[in-house]
Amino acid sequence: MTTIAFIGLGNMGGPMAVNLAKADKRVLGFDFSAAALDKAREGGVEPAPSGAAAAEQADVIVTMLPAGKHLLAALDGDDGLLRSARKGALLIDCSTVDMDSARAAHDLAAKRGLKSVDAPVSGGVGGATAATLTFMVGGADDAVALARPILEAMGKKIVHCGGPGAGQAAKICNNMILGVSMIAVSEAFVLGEKLGLSHQALFDVASTASGQCWSLTSYCPVPGPVPASPANRDYAPGFATALMLKDLNLSQAAAQGSGASTPLGRRAAEIFAAFANGGGAEKDFSGIIEFLRGAEG
Ligand code: NAD
Repeated sequence: MTTIAFIGLGNMGGPMAVNLAKADKRVLGFDFSAAALDKAREGGVEPAPSGAAAAEQADVIVTMLPAGKHLLAALDGDDGLLRSARKGALLIDCSTVDMDSARAAHDLAAKRGLKSVDAPVSGGVGGATAATLTFMVGGADDAVALARPILEAMGKKIVHCGGPGAGQAAKICNNMILGVSMIAVSEAFVLGEKLGLSHQALFDVASTASGQCWSLTSYCPVPGPVPASPANRDYAPGFATALMLKDLNLSQAAAQGSGASTPLGRRAAEIFAAFANGGGAEKDFSGIIEFLRGAEG
């Protein structure tokens, strides 16, 4: 039986670890939060006393941590996972992190004789719970082949995007599209309101015409047309604005580092920053429509 060390049992990592346990893997879990550890235990995860203690028994180490600094500290700190990991083990980092941290994690793993992939996800807490996540994977062919059956227990689509870091690159680019498109859809509803157009009429047209996109059809920023969208529950997340802002800032750091021109990505980061700083950080990112109504009115 494959033994997996799962580090970071938060909103996403908790249900992902439980799905691995349901798929008959032995899962040793660790999180600084006792509450997160308890919840995962109820789902069949064995709590470990530390990340290092879990890693020393593991064939595969999965990390699901907030950001790059947490990842590098967990891997390489005094009690770091890589200090106790077995040579030949596989590291799968599912966190969304900046490109430099993603590449540094691959380098650290290689120095310790581990194979590694970056495998950030799309699909949110719902996808993590239902094991329907999309994984964007970066790494060498042999590492990705080893990771695939583990990822299949947590998701339904696995895309090998290229070499080390390519999964994070895909995630950053995808979420820049998402941030920009949510602003575009919200602006269209605000303009439609001014023009006397009902929300439903604009939705019925745009959702079957060339304005169609995920921000409109899955996360529609006005209540009514898509009953499951956060707009119907006063913008409770969903996908919090703070996380969208984090991802847009990652896109802008990557754009600066690579010399890419992303004027709409930059403007989207500014608009989401203003919304977050004005009290919207914990709201779903589709709540940006309320900010746009206020900004314009
Ligand atoms: P979260 O804050 O709920 O969970 C992170 C967990 O990591 C926390 O429980 C924290 O205690 C733990 N942690 C931090 N450092 C640790 C360490 N050294 N050892 C053990 N545990 C440690 O965050 P989340 O919502 O689960 O997101 C995790 C990652 O997934 C982030 O990078 C996020 O951007 C990404 N993501 C989130 C969503 C979403 O909808 N929430 C969707 C896609 C991707």
